[in-house]
Amino acid sequence: MQKLVEISEFIVVDPTANVATHTHGGRAKCLQRLIRLDLPVPQTVALPFTTVRHIASGEEIDTQAILDHFGEAPLVSVRPSSEDPDWGGPGAILNIGMNSARHAEYANLLGHEAANKLYARFITTYSVHVAHLDPDLFVIEDEISAETLHAMLDTYEEETDETFPQGPAYQLTGVLRSMARAWEGTTARLLRQARGAPADAGLGLVVQAMAPGLGPPESGSGVIQFAEPTTGMPQITGRYLSQSQGRDALNAEGALYLTRDHRGISLEELCPQVFETLLGYGRVCREQLREEMQIEFTLDGGNLSVLDAVRIARSERANMRIAVSLAEDGIISREDAILRVQPRALSEMLHRQVDAAAPRDVLARGVAASPGAATGRLVFNSADAQASAARGEPCILVRRETSPEDIRGMHAAQGVLTERGGMTSHAAVIARGLGLPGVVGVSDIILNRKDNLITLPDGRTLKAGDIVTIDGTTGQILGGDVPLLEPALDDAFRTLLGWADQVRDIAVRANADTPAEAKVARAFDAEGIGLCRTEHMFFEGDRMIVMREMIFAENTEGRKAALERLVPMQVSDLTDLFKIMSGLPVCIRLLDPPLHEFLPSGRDALRDLADALDLSLSKVTRRVEALSEFNPMLGLRGVRLGVTMPEIYEAQARAIFLAAIAASKDGESIIPEIMIPLVSARREVELVSERIKAVAEAVRAETGAEFNYRLGVMVETPRAALRAEEIAPHCAFLSFGTNDLTQMAYGLSRDDAGRFMGAYVNQGVFPEDPFHRLDVEGVGELLTLGAERGRKGKPEITLSICGEHGGDPDSISFCRDAGFDYVSCSPFRVPVARLAAAHIAL
Ligand code: PEP
Ligand code: MG
Repeated sequence: MQKLVEISEFIVVDPTANVATHTHGGRAKCLQRLIRLDLPVPQTVALPFTTVRHIASGEEIDTQAILDHFGEAPLVSVRPSSEDPDWGGPGAILNIGMNSARHAEYANLLGHEAANKLYARFITTYSVHVAHLDPDLFVIEDEISAETLHAMLDTYEEETDETFPQGPAYQLTGVLRSMARAWEGTTARLLRQARGAPADAGLGLVVQAMAPGLGPPESGSGVIQFAEPTTGMPQITGRYLSQSQGRDALNAEGALYLTRDHRGISLEELCPQVFETLLGYGRVCREQLREEMQIEFTLDGGNLSVLDAVRIARSERANMRIAVSLAEDGIISREDAILRVQPRALSEMLHRQVDAAAPRDVLARGVAASPGAATGRLVFNSADAQASAARGEPCILVRRETSPEDIRGMHAAQGVLTERGGMTSHAAVIARGLGLPGVVGVSDIILNRKDNLITLPDGRTLKAGDIVTIDGTTGQILGGDVPLLEPALDDAFRTLLGWADQVRDIAVRANADTPAEAKVARAFDAEGIGLCRTEHMFFEGDRMIVMREMIFAENTEGRKAALERLVPMQVSDLTDLFKIMSGLPVCIRLLDPPLHEFLPSGRDALRDLADALDLSLSKVTRRVEALSEFNPMLGLRGVRLGVTMPEIYEAQARAIFLAAIAASKDGESIIPEIMIPLVSARREVELVSERIKAVAEAVRAETGAEFNYRLGVMVETPRAALRAEEIAPHCAFLSFGTNDLTQMAYGLSRDDAGRFMGAYVNQGVFPEDPFHRLDVEGVGELLTLGAERGRKGKPEITLSICGEHGGDPDSISFCRDAGFDYVSCSPFRVPVARLAAAHIAL
C-alpha cells in the first residue's frame, strides 16, 4: 500500500491559517497577507517545505484531496515558494486540469481559439517540465488550430508511449513531483547557494485556482509595479495583454502600456475602472506590506484577480531610494531603512563610469555583467593580479572563465574580463557581489592563454601589461586610459547615510594623500583624514626626482638641500588639504617610504635618473646598490628614517606647521595631527617628539603665530602593541596600521603574500586573506591588547585603525567592540563604513 501524504501536510491559505515564511515560503506568506488585505486572490493551497521534500523523495501524495478544495473540475496553477524569493525556484506551471473534456467545455464557453490556447499551453509545459520531452517538439504559435492541438497530443504519445494524461489528480502529482525534484537538482542548488541560500533551504509550493484570462468579454493578464526598478523613482510600469495568462504580457508584442502612452491605447483607457482599482491595490501593498510590490493580475470577463505580488526586483540604487521613500512616508522606520541597505551594496553606486563625452576606441564587446568602469593593465592570472595590487598598480584580470580559485585575483583586480560566460556565470555573479566592474562573454576575441595574448576582432593583439578600460555598464572593452566620471550620489544616498550617521557610534575618517582624494573624502562626508601618507605626495613627475635626490644624498647637507625644495611642495599640498577638510581633523603621517618603491630598477631607469640628477651612471648605480635592502618592507622605513636622518622629519614638521598657519588664516585654527610610522620602541617616540617640539617652537618664534598640534603613534609592529602602555603617555593617539601589523604578526611579506594566498585559503589554512579581512584571532588580539595597554598608559588616548581593514564591515565591528574611536579607510569605502557602523550599532 502506498503511503499517502496526510491532508494536514498542506494548508488552505486563508486569513487565519498557520502559514509562515520559514515553513511555507515567502510567496505563500505574501498571498496570505494579500488575502488579509481583502485583495481578490483566487483560492490558494500551500504545501510546506517538509511535504515538498517528501514528494521529491518519491512519496505519493493525495493530490485529489488538494483538488477537492478547488470545487468541481478546477484548473489550477503551481508556483514555487522558497523562503527568500531571491533564491529562485522552478517556473510556474499553469492550467493543470486541462484535458480533452475540459477543452470541449471551454470551447463552448470561451470559444475554440481560447480553449485551444489553454490546452496547448498545458500540453507543452507538461511535456517539457514533467515528461522531460524536447521543447523543440512543441513550438507554440499565436493561433492554435484544432489540427495543431491534435498533433501535439500525438507527439506526446509517440514520445512517451502513453496518451496525454487526462486525470487532473494524476497531472498535479506529476507537476508537484517535477517541481520538487527540480529544486533538488545540482544547478538549482548551486545557483541559490551563490545567492546566499543555506544548503538545506526548503521549497514550498503554492497551488492556486486559475482565472483563465481568456475568452470574452475583456480578459487577459498583466503585471504592474509602482517604482522604476533601476532608479527606484515612483513610476507606473508594466504591461497588460488581452487573451493571455501568467506573465505573458511582459514579453509579448502587442501588450498594452498601463498608463496613457503615445505609442497606443493603454489599460488606463481600455478599462479605467480596473486601472484605478490596481492603483489602490498598489497603495495598500506599499503601506501594509511595507514594500514596493509587483502585482500580477488577471482580468477574467472583466473580473479582476490578484494572483501574486512579489517584491520588485531592483538595482541597489533603487533599493536604497525605495527604503528612503518608505521611511520618509512613515511606512517604515529610519532604522528599518538603514537595515534594508547592505553596506557592501553601496559599492555599486560608488562606481566610476566612462565619460559619455570621451572618445571610445572599442576593441571588443561582451555582456555588461557588473556595472562601473575601470582602467588597468592586463593580467592573465590571479597571481599576477595580486602581484600587481601589491605594487599598487591597477589591473584588469582576463580569464577564459573564472572559477573559485580566481576570487583572490578578482579581489586584487580593478575589473574582470572573461571570454566566456553570461549574466549568471561565475565571473558575473562574483563580480557583482564584489562590486567589481565586469564584462563577460567577450567571445569575439581569441584568448591565447599560453602566451598571454588577446587577438581582437580587427586583428590587433593585446599582451600582458597593456592598458585597457572595461565598461561593465555597456559591455565594451576600450583601448587605453579613458576619462572616467566619478559616481553621482543622489539625494536618497545622502539622506540614508545621514540617518546612518545619527545612529552609529564610531567615527569614520578617510585615508587620503592628495587634495584630489581629500575632495572625494569630503564628498563622502568623511569626518576627517585618518591617514595622509606623505610619501605618496611625491609619486608623480618632477617631485619624484626631488624625492630621489633626497634619498640619494650622501650626507646631511645634501639631504637638507633636497628637503628645501621638498618643503614648499608639502606646504602647498598640506595647505590645500587643510582647507579642503576645513576644520575637520587631518592626520599627517611622517615619511614612511619603503626604499625600493623610490629607487629605479633597470638600466634605462638608472640612466634617466643619472641624467636627472646630473650624476654619472656608475655613481647612481653604486648608490642604488648601497641603498638596496634585502627586505625593504622591514628595512630603513618609517621612524627608523626619522631617527637616523632627523632632518627629514624636522623638515616635514616644519611644512606641516607652516601649512596649518597658512590654512588657519582664512578660518578656524587648525590643529594638525602628526603621526609617527613603524614605531617599535618608546625611545623612538621620545626622540621624534622632542625634535618636533623644537621645530614647533622655532616656527612659533619665526612666524609669531600660535598653534597647537597632536602627536600620534602608529601601532604597526607587534612590539608597539605589546609596549603600548609605555608609549601612550608620549602621544595623544594610537592608530593601528593593520597592513604592517598583519604582515609582521604572520611574518608574511605584504608584497609576496599573493603568490600563495590562494592555496592557503583554498586549503583552509586561512579562512580569508588576512590582508582583506582582519584576522581577529591573532592580529585582533594584538589590537585588543594594544588598546588595553595604551589606555592603561593614558586613559584618554584616542584609538583608531587606518589599515585597509578600516573599510571592511566585519573588521569595523571588531574595532567598535574594542572601543576604538574611529576607523579610517580609502575614500570610496567611507560610505560603506558609515553604513556598516550604523548596522553594527542597531
Ligand atoms: C598600515 O601598515 O596599516 C598602514 C596604514 O600603513 P601603510 O599601508 O602605508 O604601510
Ligand atoms: Mg604601514
